[in-house]
Amino acid sequence: MLGRLAFHAHPDDESISMGGTLADYASRGVSVTVVTATRGEAGEIHNRPDADEVRPVLGDIREAEERAACRVLGVDDVEFLGYRDSGMMGTPENHHADSFWGADFMEAVGRLVRVIRARRPLVVTAYDPFGGYGHPDHVQVHRVGTAAFFGSPDVGRFPVEGDEEPWQPARLYWATWSRERLRRIRREASADRGVDGEPEEPGSGTLPEHITTRRDVSRFMDRKHAALLTHDTQFAEDSWIRTMSEERLRGFLAEEVFVRVFSKVPGDPSDADLFAGLG
Ligand SMILES: [Zn+2]
Repeated sequence: MLGRLAFHAHPDDESISMGGTLADYASRGVSVTVVTATRGEAGEIHNRPDADEVRPVLGDIREAEERAACRVLGVDDVEFLGYRDSGMMGTPENHHADSFWGADFMEAVGRLVRVIRARRPLVVTAYDPFGGYGHPDHVQVHRVGTAAFFGSPDVGRFPVEGDEEPWQPARLYWATWSRERLRRIRREASADRGVDGEPEEPGSGTLPEHITTRRDVSRFMDRKHAALLTHDTQFAEDSWIRTMSEERLRGFLAEEVFVRVFSKVPGDPSDADLFAGLG
């Protein structure tokens, strides 16, 4: 049985970065686990006139949205690592006692190691070193996810608990964004609004030569879009996800890209099948 574990920062990241890939493998009978570090407590709240009252229970709402979105993608196994959304860099949320950004590193890695050992996936995904756009929780997914991939067989550093057994997944990918695609979308969105172009976010997205694996997920685009819309509190009525033309949306959502970081089994990193050669 093939297994895949996808590690994410907040509810909605799973759909936007790899909703098509999750739906694709789930539809093929691969056991897919989505692990999300936080419950998105610090994000903006949309589509709720009672935003002030909702804020204290936003984590519960976003957890429910996440589970519903994963159901749309065909994924039933959804885990939360139990940290709090750290907010954007430089905000007081960074320093909250439970924030993912401020978490003890080895403790956080240990939590993910427990999940990896319980699921025994062949393929694990984390994020690129900048976490796509520099959000502290995304950077932390890169660090913690990569360390847990290599830490899950390490019984010296992470002693086994109960009937748990050490496990080395076979392949690690970082989910990422194509820098050229991000630039193009930003240009198009600016042109739509009749403005000159938004300032570049330095470091956002990965250069084409560093992307190893491009996946055409156009077959799953409708499901991916539906999963995104399930995250109702994340997207305002005038959000791009609700207003973009079908063609533009397709251009944005139909390709998902990864960097193959490590594989126990040699093979062509550009193979769109993340399990190629793993049997
Ligand atoms: Zn996020």
